[in-house]
Amino acid sequence: MTRKQNFLCIFFIIVALTVLPAPTFSQYESMIKEWNQPFKPFQIIGNIYYVGTSSLACYIIKTKAGLILLDTALQESSPIVRANIESLGFKLKDVKIMVSSHAHFDHVAGHADMKAATGAKVYAMKGDVEIMESGGQKGFHPIKPFYKPFKVDKILKDGETVRLGEVAMTAHLTPGHTEGNTAWTMVTEENGKKYNVVFTCSLSINPGVRMVNNPTWAGVKEAYAKSFQVMKSLPCDVFLGPHAPFFNMEEKVKRLGTQPNPFIDPEGLRNFVAMNEKNYYAQIQRERNEK
Ligand SMILES: [Zn+2]
Repeated sequence: MTRKQNFLCIFFIIVALTVLPAPTFSQYESMIKEWNQPFKPFQIIGNIYYVGTSSLACYIIKTKAGLILLDTALQESSPIVRANIESLGFKLKDVKIMVSSHAHFDHVAGHADMKAATGAKVYAMKGDVEIMESGGQKGFHPIKPFYKPFKVDKILKDGETVRLGEVAMTAHLTPGHTEGNTAWTMVTEENGKKYNVVFTCSLSINPGVRMVNNPTWAGVKEAYAKSFQVMKSLPCDVFLGPHAPFFNMEEKVKRLGTQPNPFIDPEGLRNFVAMNEKNYYAQIQRERNEK
């Protein structure tokens, strides 16, 4: 499949999953096939490792006091993510904190099983806690399939820093895609140089969500506008995110080992934010033209 076909396929699966009342078995099977292929885990840069599937990113951040896990993908991804963590030589019991990009099934449906396997504490942004603790059923725009609910141990607020050992990760509230949608930043070090890392949030508008006169979230348009500003303000050297295609993971991983590290891509983040902002303004225009 070409990159474009791949993207279109993912797009149509997202539409099917969110517009239809519930995905049929074959739609869900097809989505799993597309998103849940095993992928060889690797060190991205410094203390940051990729442990996700072919398409759904999950990250391990190594610290002197244990591991932080960012996102767990689908429930069906659990065996892949666990095997990836262990094949890098890490122990599941060393995962002390689990954080997330946002409360949709493709990023946190694996949380319940992973929490049980590791004994880690789950930290999450305030706006997403209710969604997670209801297995995806609450919030302004619930998206199926719902998932195994899990308890959030620590509620984060905008700008809060999560610390483990020598590592500090900061949670930036970027609402819109979900209420507690979160971008994460941290500093990593490789070959004696320090790099600002941005784990972007999702900035797309889910199918069926209106920006103008939204019946379940009157301020969603303003929330997105704020989030675009936040994303533009974050210092970035290394660009990562919750879906591997967001930052061309498969293409970059082929160049790992060359200098500079291929994941250093500040322009990639700028382009990603600009593309989503353009789509946002286009949708507002379309909605206004409907009247
Ligand atoms: Zn999402």
